[in-house]
Amino acid sequence: MTDPSPAQVAKRLKPNDTIGIIGGGQLGRLLAMAAAKLGFRTIVLEPHKDCPAAQVCNDQIVAAYDDEEALHALCEACQVVTYEFENVPLDAARWLENRVPLFPPAKALAMSQDRLEEKRGLQDMGMDVARFCAVRSVEELAQGLQDFGQGVLKTCRFGYDGKGQHVFRGDFDTSQRVLAAVLDSLIPQGSKAAEYGCVLEELVPFDREFSIIGTRGQDGAVQCYPAAVNVHENGILRSSSVGQSILDDGLAANGQRQVEQLLHGLNYVGTVGVEFFAVGDTCLVNEMAPRVHNTGHWTVEACGTSQFEQHIRAIAGLPLGSVDLLCELCEMENLLGDESDGAFDFLQDPHVYVTLYGKVEARAGRKMGHITRLYK
Ligand code: AMP
Repeated sequence: MTDPSPAQVAKRLKPNDTIGIIGGGQLGRLLAMAAAKLGFRTIVLEPHKDCPAAQVCNDQIVAAYDDEEALHALCEACQVVTYEFENVPLDAARWLENRVPLFPPAKALAMSQDRLEEKRGLQDMGMDVARFCAVRSVEELAQGLQDFGQGVLKTCRFGYDGKGQHVFRGDFDTSQRVLAAVLDSLIPQGSKAAEYGCVLEELVPFDREFSIIGTRGQDGAVQCYPAAVNVHENGILRSSSVGQSILDDGLAANGQRQVEQLLHGLNYVGTVGVEFFAVGDTCLVNEMAPRVHNTGHWTVEACGTSQFEQHIRAIAGLPLGSVDLLCELCEMENLLGDESDGAFDFLQDPHVYVTLYGKVEARAGRKMGHITRLYK
């Protein structure tokens, strides 16, 4: 790719301006719908035709995320570019960033792409994380397990929804042979994941998991939604619940402070999702995602401004909207695999809202849609 030219200065978009979205999944789809509400046009860059986002965008560039011609076309056509997943090739993001306003910034993307860099970055910004160590060999793994007692081994790159992880809990075999087999299953020799190695984290005896979705505008203003308490099954988000007394106020305030610190620390523009472990009266950051987040889907029905609209407002240089909860309690539940077959049955209850992502193949564990139930 050619040398970068000076970055363009972001400015407030006008109605009918065009927003580029890299990645065509459900998050891109919901972002495009929020952009359309504000009168913006959207173009999605995604190699799969008829992807969830392309079904609701104005246009799709069907190409790999790092296809140079496609990136040129995206720059030409858009006033601002964003992304909906964290595995956007970093070189492509940096190349774009020098030609067109790209939000969130590529440095947030870089941090989220590598679990080791992420943990170090979070710590450097003063956030609290579980103890961790880098693991590339059986010896480092054995040492880490000796230090932490129990732990979760995660690939630094390419893991998602619980994939690329191994939990060492209770009585486990620490023989050289078994540890080598675990390492080899996560980072097989010669694989891309092996280039980056693993991180071993202490197994956190958390009481609950919660997340906070926050947004920072181009003017530096920050808004955080109320904390959501989340339940995961097999590493995949099952449900998120939000409302008064669902989480201790002190924990929620602590989490919010850390999110604000992160947003300002990265000079971030857009929406971020930060996941926490609540342990007694402290909270540890598990991970951050530089994008709209599955644990914030309930904001569409339960708040005046959804996380998607908030993101679009931020990257378009518009003021942020209200994050107040408009009901007493709400619950979001993912529809995984063939659970979406019965989605419309939920509509028997007028307080349940169904969102489907337009995916045709309902593979086991695949996120097909979600429902949100509001309680007054
Ligand atoms: P992650 O992909 O890092 O979000 O991990 C998926 C899920 O695994 C989390 O939501 C937790 O339920 C669990 N988990 C991950 N890391 C840890 C940890 N260090 N201690 C305890 N549970 C964990």
